[in-house]
Amino acid sequence: METPSVAPEVLRAQLQGSLHFPGDPEYEKARTIWNAMIDRHPAAVFRAVGADDVVRAVNVARERGLLLSVRGGGHHIAGNAVGEGGLMLDLTPMKSVRLDVKSRLARVEPGVTLGELDKATQAFGLATPLGINSTTGVAGLTLGGGFGWLSRKLGLTVDNLLSADVVLAKGELVHASASEHEDLFWAIRGGGGNFGVVTSFEYQLHPVGPEVLAGLIVHPYANAREVLRSYRSAVASAPDDLACWVVLRKAPPLPFLPSDVHGKEVLVLAVCYVGRPAGGQAALAPIRAIGTPIAEAIGPTPYVGWQQAFDPLLAPGQRNYWKSHDFVDLGDEALELMREYLGRLPTPECEIFIGQLGGAVNRVPADATAYPHRDVRFVVNVHTRWSDRSQDAACIAWARELFDRMAPHATGGVYVNFMPEDEAQRVQRGAYGPNYDRLARLKARYDPENLFRMNHNIAPAR
Ligand SMILES: Cc1cc2nc3c(=O)[nH]c(=O)nc-3n(C[C@H](O)[C@H](O)[C@H](O)COP(=O)(O)OP(=O)(O)OC[C@H]3O[C@@H](n4cnc5c(N)ncnc54)[C@H](O)[C@@H]3O)c2cc1C
Repeated sequence: METPSVAPEVLRAQLQGSLHFPGDPEYEKARTIWNAMIDRHPAAVFRAVGADDVVRAVNVARERGLLLSVRGGGHHIAGNAVGEGGLMLDLTPMKSVRLDVKSRLARVEPGVTLGELDKATQAFGLATPLGINSTTGVAGLTLGGGFGWLSRKLGLTVDNLLSADVVLAKGELVHASASEHEDLFWAIRGGGGNFGVVTSFEYQLHPVGPEVLAGLIVHPYANAREVLRSYRSAVASAPDDLACWVVLRKAPPLPFLPSDVHGKEVLVLAVCYVGRPAGGQAALAPIRAIGTPIAEAIGPTPYVGWQQAFDPLLAPGQRNYWKSHDFVDLGDEALELMREYLGRLPTPECEIFIGQLGGAVNRVPADATAYPHRDVRFVVNVHTRWSDRSQDAACIAWARELFDRMAPHATGGVYVNFMPEDEAQRVQRGAYGPNYDRLARLKARYDPENLFRMNHNIAPAR
């Protein structure tokens, strides 16, 4: 039913520009996204170069009843950037970043990646909070909330979003901000791609770096219990300038690790201090005092380099399945489960990670933006990652089992950008909780026919 009845020549006449069909190399490139589990075939790919192209694509999809999918960076684990049949709107050519250095503002098109934005802003010693993998798209990251190393100090990406240009389901291009289309502006700060296609984001920038104090401390599996509990205590009083995330995985062959540790289960404390250099050592001291590490590699590092530090472990093309829980506190039971499952990772690429939030993220009321999880201090992700299709069942089962066992200790909330495709049942209560009803009413106003449904979908209120 979703497959369009529209002929290629009709699309060609209505869309002009860069239109690609099965068999075309550009089509293959566009439909291939970060998660290799997603292998869908849209009827056509339209590569937009500007807002006018986006308006045309939205109009064609609506008028012809085509399933419309929108690709930013193509990183979402659920793969909603690409649909089966229908029209795929690929925004990757929209790469402009315009800076107003004096006012510390950036206007950014939706095909820009985090690495591209960081590179542009860091040339002037500026940045806005983004995620930790440089090849992620700014568009999807922002629309879900967005957090990374700067968030404890400067808030979520959406807390730094000042305005956006949005193409609505009717094909109208509007500007949303705190003073124009305020409801829409509220909804897109966490509500994903449910409300329209964003063609430009305006961010507040802040002085950052250009060097930060960052790096890794690696602990052995044998000390996992002590390390995790000490981590919890050490970060409880951490300043907002410091973020410390934990990755539980098999050790990659990092040059500063002894070779006999490579491939063994380890706990990696990843730290990033973004305050004045003089305060860095004191801030890091409680984390450095944890247990007896195997090795440590921390020092002044260019912020743009640190933003790419995890790229090699997160490269596109692998099969991936994620589960995610929010936590206010990490209880002993949850930590013990992480320790237990670190002992039986199904593949060397799998990992469990603890992302530390808190700080500025928690100082915003839950109803100030669509992103509601303002009391959350930790996000725990189960990242299953493998390359051989025959391991699908075992990897997914491992992730689900750990997720289910951790559930009684978590808040029940989840960050929409970490939800896999099979979690539609978590959208209402898990992803949006107290903000869902308002989002559903706004969906009914801005997209009553649910044209924008290739996402973690908010059903229009009746
Ligand atoms: C390796 C990896 C690391 C990550 N690390 C972090 C992290 O540190 N912090 C964090 O917050 N998140 C992180 N994420 C999650 C990330 O925020 C989401 O995957 C996000 O959706 C990616 O955005 P994208 O544009 O690349 O994705 P896409 O898959 O292109 O888009 C995601 C969704 O947004 C919609 N969309 C995209 N662009 C637009 C637009 N312009 N207008 C309307 N809708 C649009 C798409 O249709 C889709 O539904 C990570 C993801 C990966 C894979």
